[in-house]
Amino acid sequence: MQLEFTPEQEQFRQDVRTWFETELSGPFADIRGLPHSSGATDRRIEWERHLGNSGWNILAWPTALGGREAGLIEQVVFAEEYARSQAPGRISHIGLELVAPTIMAFGTEAQKQSFLPDIAHVRTLWAQLFSEPNAGSDLSNVQTRARLEQRPGGDVWVLDGQKIWSSYAQYAEWAIVLCRTEPGSVGAQGLSFLILPLRQKGVDIRPIRQMTGGSSFNEVFLDGAETAAHNVLGNPGEGWRVAMGTLTYERGVSTLGQQTGFRNEITALLQAAQANGQINDPAIARRFAQAWAELRAMRYTALRMLGDTGLSRAGLTYKIYYTSWHQRLGELAMEVLGIAGDAPEPGSKDQALQHLYLDSRSDSIWAGTSQIQRNIIAERGLGMPREPRRAKA
Ligand SMILES: Cc1cc2nc3c(=O)[nH]c(=O)nc-3n(C[C@H](O)[C@H](O)[C@H](O)COP(=O)(O)OP(=O)(O)OC[C@H]3O[C@@H](n4cnc5c(N)ncnc54)[C@H](O)[C@@H]3O)c2cc1C
Repeated sequence: MQLEFTPEQEQFRQDVRTWFETELSGPFADIRGLPHSSGATDRRIEWERHLGNSGWNILAWPTALGGREAGLIEQVVFAEEYARSQAPGRISHIGLELVAPTIMAFGTEAQKQSFLPDIAHVRTLWAQLFSEPNAGSDLSNVQTRARLEQRPGGDVWVLDGQKIWSSYAQYAEWAIVLCRTEPGSVGAQGLSFLILPLRQKGVDIRPIRQMTGGSSFNEVFLDGAETAAHNVLGNPGEGWRVAMGTLTYERGVSTLGQQTGFRNEITALLQAAQANGQINDPAIARRFAQAWAELRAMRYTALRMLGDTGLSRAGLTYKIYYTSWHQRLGELAMEVLGIAGDAPEPGSKDQALQHLYLDSRSDSIWAGTSQIQRNIIAERGLGMPREPRRAKA
């Protein structure tokens, strides 16, 4: 049993750290430490392309696709160093972490050749068009329709419907879309998983303004939007199976990087509490100590999960644990800031802490709400009776 990193792994960590330090104190110093909901989109995309051109985006990809087939530990080290260096949050993660693994698992050779290199180098950005106004937790209720039409230049899928909460769709060139291709079908039957170009007449993308003032997600209206007949992942009618594959990639190694981000946040908050004297309040100091201890415990839980196969108790409960931890940290931030947190200076440290509070409210919604997570724990973890499911068509 190995309890420490090997000298090679430590060397890898050092190399990654040095690379980030050089780039983020040099050409990309202006975007270091930008909060997730900040603008500066063009610069962040430039940064992500630079990562792609330097080979970092495809560390874990198979060598046949140009990757390095890096092991789990190297991926964890990279994710931790990314967050530690205060590199900005990623816009290309949907393409890299959700779309690329789905194409690798379900795509044809032609689809891999056509899409993966551009994703790796961030020449294209992607959006995930799954949720609809009446299909969120109940995703299989998707009502967006697609029909296959014959055209002289080649058959096309024609899509009509409305999607919502589509992260970064306003910047994306392509999207993965879950839609109904068998008229009259119900639930998970009759769905297909299409790849859709977004820059076209039949697609209307409307950013949703959030409490922070930013717009990280959108409503997307599809009105006769078209995509080539071959742009389907898996067989038509098998979209549910493919979509479930995509959702399993939503969490993973990036969890460890996320925790390093949490450490950055708690450190920044502690500095604020030291600066304004709030740390001298024993009740506040105790909450810091508690949050810090819980963060350490989370790290070990996440490391243990990486080695798990199948459903483990830690895997089932982890999302609820970290989201509630993060929301409590946000609440602590607002108490530490006091009145300074109500209307902070734009771009200030106080504003970053206020955004920590506001952004953390969404943690218990995306990638499965806390209520749905509890249902999963009850049904799969504790073996309690299942919720009634929609009748099959
Ligand atoms: C930051 C963020 C980014 C997102 N990005 C994307 C994206 O890029 N692409 C995309 O497709 N979607 C995205 N989403 C949408 C996300 O997947 C949905 O918001 C989520 O699935 C919940 O669906 P809903 O909002 O429709 O809420 P609903 O499903 O309508 O739920 C409303 C409330 O009812 C509860 N509830 C629902 N069903 C049950 C049940 N069976 N038992 C107990 N309680 C229940 C829920 O927990 C919730 O509290 C994003 C969401 C957020 C917050």
